Amino acid sequence: MPTLVRKILIANRGEIACRIIGTARRLGIATVAVYSEADRHARHVAAADEAILVGPAPAGKSYLDGAKIIAAAKYAKADAVHPGYGFLAENADFAEACAGAGLVFVGPSPASIRAMGDKARAKALMAEAGVPIVPGYFGDDQRAGRLAEEASRIGYPVLVKPSAGGGGKGMKIAASTEDFSTALDSAKREAAASFGDDRVMLEKYLAAPRHVEVQVFGDGHGTIVHLFDRDCSIQRRHQKILEEAPAPGLSDELRKAMRAAAIAAARSVAYIGAGTIEFLVTPADGAFYFLEMNTRLQVEHPVTEMITGLDLVAWQIRVAEGARLPLAQDEITAAGHAIEARIYAEDPARDFLPRTGSLERVAFPPASPDVRVDSGVGAGDEISIHYDPLVAKVIAHGEDRPSALRRLGHALGETRILGVETNLGFLRRVLAHAAFLEARLDTSFIERHSAALVAEAKPAAAEVLALAVLGLLCERDAEARSSAMLDPWNARDAWRLNEAAEETIHVRDATAQEAHAEAIRVVHTPGAWSLALADGTQYFRSSGALAADGTLRVDLDGHRVEALWMRSGPEIRLATREGEQHRFLVQSLEARGPHGGGQTGRLTAPMPGRIAAFLVAPGAEVAANTPVLVLEAMKMEHMLRAPSAGIVREFTFSLGDQVAEGALLVTFDPDGA
Ligand code: ADP
Repeated sequence: MPTLVRKILIANRGEIACRIIGTARRLGIATVAVYSEADRHARHVAAADEAILVGPAPAGKSYLDGAKIIAAAKYAKADAVHPGYGFLAENADFAEACAGAGLVFVGPSPASIRAMGDKARAKALMAEAGVPIVPGYFGDDQRAGRLAEEASRIGYPVLVKPSAGGGGKGMKIAASTEDFSTALDSAKREAAASFGDDRVMLEKYLAAPRHVEVQVFGDGHGTIVHLFDRDCSIQRRHQKILEEAPAPGLSDELRKAMRAAAIAAARSVAYIGAGTIEFLVTPADGAFYFLEMNTRLQVEHPVTEMITGLDLVAWQIRVAEGARLPLAQDEITAAGHAIEARIYAEDPARDFLPRTGSLERVAFPPASPDVRVDSGVGAGDEISIHYDPLVAKVIAHGEDRPSALRRLGHALGETRILGVETNLGFLRRVLAHAAFLEARLDTSFIERHSAALVAEAKPAAAEVLALAVLGLLCERDAEARSSAMLDPWNARDAWRLNEAAEETIHVRDATAQEAHAEAIRVVHTPGAWSLALADGTQYFRSSGALAADGTLRVDLDGHRVEALWMRSGPEIRLATREGEQHRFLVQSLEARGPHGGGQTGRLTAPMPGRIAAFLVAPGAEVAANTPVLVLEAMKMEHMLRAPSAGIVREFTFSLGDQVAEGALLVTFDPDGA
């Protein structure tokens, strides 16, 4: 007799917590979120029916603390726990503790998790079950001498992998005997640091394989089905960024063999719930090898949902309740093609280094039956050092691969993010690359094509510069209008009268390497501006409007263009369809506070940064605009000037201090005060 789940606790955060809450709500199941102190205002907390604080920001003290999470579930009288992916999702002890506390764990049995959790043991198990594995060494003898011998037996190049690994961490390639001990030491060090377990295994390093995986589902009644395959070959640092279903261009025999192997693998551990069997495929000889089984929902599960029309989370809950799978193998069908792009806060030009910061302005494409956006963050949220830097997943479906790719490209063009650097432009370039369009996919794709995929820092195009300046003009216009509304006699700027007035705005492109300020001539005419750029480009009649969410809509000589725009102090940020975030500095604003009007007696930080130098000492008498300190922000130095004449009273920070935007830096006794 199946039990009915009525209230579920989601032991996760971010997009996956939001996604699970969505299905639970649809099924009429009450939801309980858990959150850390850093996530008080997070989307998943607001989306759930109730939410429980489980600890401070570091995951080890909150999202990874199984005892606290179980206590929260009991306190909220939840009857089930969904672990999402990551955190406790593949922790057998946690699954066991849930059962011990009378909670339904939405996932496989602790025994299945254990059997697949140790990669080396899983490979041995798979070999027994007749599933092909990459030639390698998966033994317990971890002496360096033995490992070196095994590496020579396998034949170079050899991949050294942490046995307890995940997320591509700690994997090292040894090209030859000479490299082996260096690779081994470094893999062991990273494994110990990341997983608290320095055991490794060795594998033949395959040249440019494809990563193809099969989605499986089992119930507690002995049925195991597959839900087709996915290609996840587009990876950086051995981690996926684009995934699609079905995997393009595989022969029917290969597909059939992989599905059968996946089901055999799942059956060998009596698998219940959603699971993924990952394989490496060498298309040249049609061989495939078991890589690992993930005993949970995958990040990329939406592509499978889009081709099958099924809700995998609903299936997970149903199976956890003890019910049979809702469909038999021959009733599960797939239509069309789906592809997912993972938008990460990271810097593709610096080896995909994760970035942190505040998402100042965010615009996602409108959801439709063929475009899905899974995200756990929005404007004003922080991408912090504590958690995964995933901002959103954008997923598109089409009747075939080219139409799915086109739709995803368009959706990414409508995705604009300001504040944190992301891989959005990089993803768009992958999507547009000829090799990708032709589905010539393998795990070395990004490395091989990196020159074409990483954007060079080139000066912004004329249109982009014009958009930056128009945003400023629109903002000023709106401000003038609102103060005119308060007091009509305030509207006294010459250019607001019905006659033409001219000004020059000096803008420096802060993204380009050698940035010098460009002078842009602006002529104000009634209801419009005309712009003349240094390179000779002219826009005779431009107009626009800036919405409160940062959406800038302008008309450049009849060409309507849209962008996301924001300003903090002298810095303008702009995101256009190309996916890149542009930064400009407006010279006339460099001495002013965060919202334009400089404050007498106080100098505040126009942007987050580090105090790089003091140019005067407390007690010094300064004139208005005297440089007083240097703030280093985003690898650039910004001179901050005295807001008015006076005497410097105090510097509130020390040299080298990190300061937040808006922080009070210097106090003055203004002249005459
Ligand atoms: P993790 O669990 O850390 O993500 P996996 O074993 O799943 O590690 O491998 C991640 C990726 O690393 C694969 O998708 C593939 O790109 C690469 N990789 C793993 N093993 C091999 C191998 N033997 N040869 C070549 N590439 C490999």
